[in-house]
Amino acid sequence: MNHTLKRLSSLLAEGKASSVELCQDYLARIASLNPTLNAFVTTDPERTLAEARAADALRAEGKGGALAGVPVAHKDIFCAEGWRTTCGSRMLADFVSPYDAHVIERFKAAAMPCLGKTNMDEFAMGSSNETSFFGPVRNPWDTARVPGGSSGGSAACVAAGLAPAATGTDTGGSIRQPAALCGITGLKPTYGVVSRYGMIAFASSLDQAGPMARDAEDCALLMNVMAGFDPRDSTSLERDTEDYARDLDKPLTGLRVGLPREFFGAGLGAETAAAVEAAIGQLRKLGATTVDIGLPNSRLSVAAYYVLAPAEASSNLSRYDGVRYGYRAPEYTDLTDMYERTRAEGFGAEVKRRIMIGTYVLSHGYYDAYYLQAQKLRRLIARDFAEAFRQCDVILGPTAPTTAFRLGEKTADPVEMYLSDIYTIAVNLAGLPGMSLPCGFDGQGLPIGLQLIGDYFAEARMLNVAHQYQLATDWHARAPGLDAS
Ligand code: GLN
Repeated sequence: MNHTLKRLSSLLAEGKASSVELCQDYLARIASLNPTLNAFVTTDPERTLAEARAADALRAEGKGGALAGVPVAHKDIFCAEGWRTTCGSRMLADFVSPYDAHVIERFKAAAMPCLGKTNMDEFAMGSSNETSFFGPVRNPWDTARVPGGSSGGSAACVAAGLAPAATGTDTGGSIRQPAALCGITGLKPTYGVVSRYGMIAFASSLDQAGPMARDAEDCALLMNVMAGFDPRDSTSLERDTEDYARDLDKPLTGLRVGLPREFFGAGLGAETAAAVEAAIGQLRKLGATTVDIGLPNSRLSVAAYYVLAPAEASSNLSRYDGVRYGYRAPEYTDLTDMYERTRAEGFGAEVKRRIMIGTYVLSHGYYDAYYLQAQKLRRLIARDFAEAFRQCDVILGPTAPTTAFRLGEKTADPVEMYLSDIYTIAVNLAGLPGMSLPCGFDGQGLPIGLQLIGDYFAEARMLNVAHQYQLATDWHARAPGLDAS
């Protein structure tokens, strides 16, 4: 079950498979492997097959686009009408969404059936998928290891062939880091390109949805479905529609690749460094030149992020009060007691930690010292990138400092966990597009991710670079050896 979207689309077009058959195959594989991987929180085969039948009917009438009938999985952060939408939290464990997120509407309009909702860190806070109320996801390459987070379920289900592609969201690295740890390709678009409407909010100025798939070409096809203006998200950008696949076949001759020295220093694992170096060599062979650049303020990105993201989260998560929707503590004395018990019982430890940090940095007397300072750093970080993009077309480096770590290895030390995103967070602070693609394996057979960072709206160029690299290599085509019993 390692077909690309492109391949599935032609199977459907040639009448060699129906959407119902494809969905049945994926649902069977989910039934057999999900008990091990825990990549899906919710599946609803009846609903999936109803969508598949509708897609087949559309095709029979000669209607529907190229992807009509091709199924995908959605991160459980997207509200989808009639689907339980949990965001990985006890707070929303029984919440059935009454409406669709913009992203879900787009997939429905493309007649792409939903295979299920994928597991994730609680409220997308985490780098290992271990903060989920529904238990950790396991990495298909080694089930004793984490898949990365927070879009760990999406990454694992694509890597294991439980879905041909999935949606993810990335606030500080949650598409790219799990893509790297699971050996798939993922793209975080420029902030504002994909609507956040109906996407459960974590840190609104950083959150951005994007595709996770087997290769860059599939990511381009998914971007064509997902991207676009939506007046219901006040930060959605009104721009002309673009075809994200338009530059895939361009040669890389003359491409200037920036190598930030800060991304190749202490803390980077030796095997990851070697694989990234080899990828740089490959791009040179394809006609690229490299230029050394500096992103001096990027070393402050984790510190700035862990002030700003919790600050926004503390405000966004104030809505979970047991009154309007979601979990309510069964026993309480008065209103205040109900609020307190609901939030004490409904949220997990990491979410509480973020709410407390966020409330602290926004409080009188600390606001200037922390929140305002972090906002200033954010500006300096964005300025570093602007400077760098005068000298290069794309920036390249590792996605994560190491390959997949063991379950439980970093849970005792939050700061250690936060440092998993050391190379991804600056991109969100600047609002830039970033992607991760497979560039090798370590000695234990675990995938290594290569990160590409582009200037604002350079997604098509980044996908071009990634696609040309994938034409010349086969890292992305490898799959973990899982037995579907
Ligand atoms: N790992 C980071 C965090 O815990 C980023 C998460 C994300 O991108 N959603 O906040």
